[in-house]
Amino acid sequence: MRPTLIAANWKMNKTVAESTAFVNELKKNIEEKSPDCDLLVIPPYLSLAVVCDALSGSGVHVGAQDLSWEGSGPFTGEISAGMIADVGATHVLVGHSERRHVLGETNEVVAKKLAAAIDADLTVILCVGEKLDEREAGAAQAVVKEQLRSATEGVDPSRWAQMVVAYEPVWAIGTGKTASPDDAEEMHRFIRARVAEMMSPDIAAALVIQYGGSVKPENANSLLSRPDIDGALIGGASLEVTSFLGIAAGVR
Ligand code: PEP
Repeated sequence: MRPTLIAANWKMNKTVAESTAFVNELKKNIEEKSPDCDLLVIPPYLSLAVVCDALSGSGVHVGAQDLSWEGSGPFTGEISAGMIADVGATHVLVGHSERRHVLGETNEVVAKKLAAAIDADLTVILCVGEKLDEREAGAAQAVVKEQLRSATEGVDPSRWAQMVVAYEPVWAIGTGKTASPDDAEEMHRFIRARVAEMMSPDIAAALVIQYGGSVKPENANSLLSRPDIDGALIGGASLEVTSFLGIAAGVR
């Protein structure tokens, strides 16, 4: 049985004080009623250490939104995998659509970042997903297949336990439009089948595949109840504890 992973990607939101207030409220709520899933909070870098400290011992995981593929040195503005692990974070996003399509990250860059994260023993959430024109042209699966192949071709089979995939159709992120549960499930099944072919049926069966794109409490259960949807990566609706835990409550 795969665990369900519900993750809050705050993007470029929340000061350190706001991050602290969120995690304190979150801890209070999960002490009263713990959700039937794993929770992960992904704050901006500046809040990472504070959030790790505040959530230490709570069972809630903490991750970073990005990393450098370099280990250290003259890379102004960059943050390494080692620095992320050093503050106690265990997860990192790689290839989020905003990094690919707003900030110009290529599949090659995504692969280098993924390798650096795996080497530092972080769990990677590899984000994949097609743009609207690609879906309309019938190319959604081909795009996702190539994103998956190019990012993971150098990853040793033993390291797939450190991998999560998030399917996030670009046209559904921050737009209020969600893939239908049928369309999302179809792509998740496709991803699992590709991983079975590329790696092995066992690795594919154990792989957690999250859905992301305008997930909210109202649509969470219809997505999370599908057999190949093992969690959610949430942007907008993760900024308030009530809606974040409202989505977690959709895991039944
Ligand atoms: C995301 O940031 O990964 C995301 C899915 O955002 P939203 O939930 O706001 O669509």
